[in-house]
Amino acid sequence: MSLLHDPLHFDAATLHAARPGRVTLVGAGPGDPELLTVKAARLIGGAKVVLHDALVGRGVLELIPRTAHRIDVGKRSGHHKLSQDGIIELMIRLARSGHELLRLKGGDPYVFGRGGEEAQALAEAGIPFEVVPGVSAAQGAGACAGIPLTHRDHATEVVCVTGHLRDGPDGTRTLDLDWPRLARPQQTVVVYMGVAALPLICERLIAHGLSADTPAALVERATLPEQRCVAGTLETLPALALVQAVKPPALLVVGTVVSLQPVLARAMALAA
Ligand code: SAH
Repeated sequence: MSLLHDPLHFDAATLHAARPGRVTLVGAGPGDPELLTVKAARLIGGAKVVLHDALVGRGVLELIPRTAHRIDVGKRSGHHKLSQDGIIELMIRLARSGHELLRLKGGDPYVFGRGGEEAQALAEAGIPFEVVPGVSAAQGAGACAGIPLTHRDHATEVVCVTGHLRDGPDGTRTLDLDWPRLARPQQTVVVYMGVAALPLICERLIAHGLSADTPAALVERATLPEQRCVAGTLETLPALALVQAVKPPALLVVGTVVSLQPVLARAMALAA
C-alpha cells in the first residue's frame, strides 16, 4: 500500500462490507516510540487501516504494518490537508463500511487534539469506539527536558492551555485566555500550540502580575533525538526563541519549576 494512501482510493467493494466496523482512538505519545503504551504498540502492530496526524512520530509510524492502509490526515497550521470535518466524515464512512480503524493521534487523544470532537461524532453516528490514552506532550517535555511540572517548593498546580490564535471579529489574531488565572503564583502554566503567540503570552502574563523574571522555557520536539530546550524568563524568552528559530511542535512552560531545568538536564545528560 502507498504510504500516503489516498483516502478516495477505497473502492466500492471495500466501502460496502456488511459488518459494521469500529474505531480505536489511540494516543501515539509525544514522539519517542518507546513512550507508547503497551496497548497502543500492540494495536498499531496489528492495524489494518490507520488514520494519523502530522505530529505522530516517525518511529511510531514505522511500527504500522506495511500491509496496512495508511492515511495521513495530518494538518499543520496553514497547511491543511483534510479539514477536521473531512477527517470525521472519512472515519465514519470507513467504519460504516466495516473497517476496523486505528485513529492515531499525537500525545493523548483527549488533550488538545480534537479527539473529543471525533469521539462525539462517532457516538452520534452510532459507531463503536475505544480510546487508548497516550503520554501527552506536557508530560514528555517535562520529563525529558528536566522540568518537573509540580514540585512542593514551586508549584502545587499545573494549568494546561492552548495558545492557538483565533481570528478576532476585527480581523486580528487573538488569544482569549483567563489571564488573571494564568498569572497566579505557585503554579506551572503549560501552553500547547503557543509558539506563534509567544510574545503576546509573555506580555499578557507580565501585565497580569507575573514578574518579568519568571522562568519560562520552550521545549521543541520533546522526546525526539532533535529535542531542544530554550530557557529564559518571560521577558527574555520571545527574543531567545526568535534568535534560536524555535518552531512547532513546541511547548511553552512558565513557572519557577523551570529554574530547576539546567541542573536536572545536566544530571540527566550524564546518565545518557
Ligand atoms: N494531543 C496532543 C496535543 C495536540 S496539540 C498531546 O496530548 O500532546 C499539538 C501541540 O502539542 C503542538 O503544537 C505542541 O505545542 C504540542 N506538542 C506535541 N508534540 C510535541 C513534542 N514532541 N514536543 C513539544 N510539543 C509538542
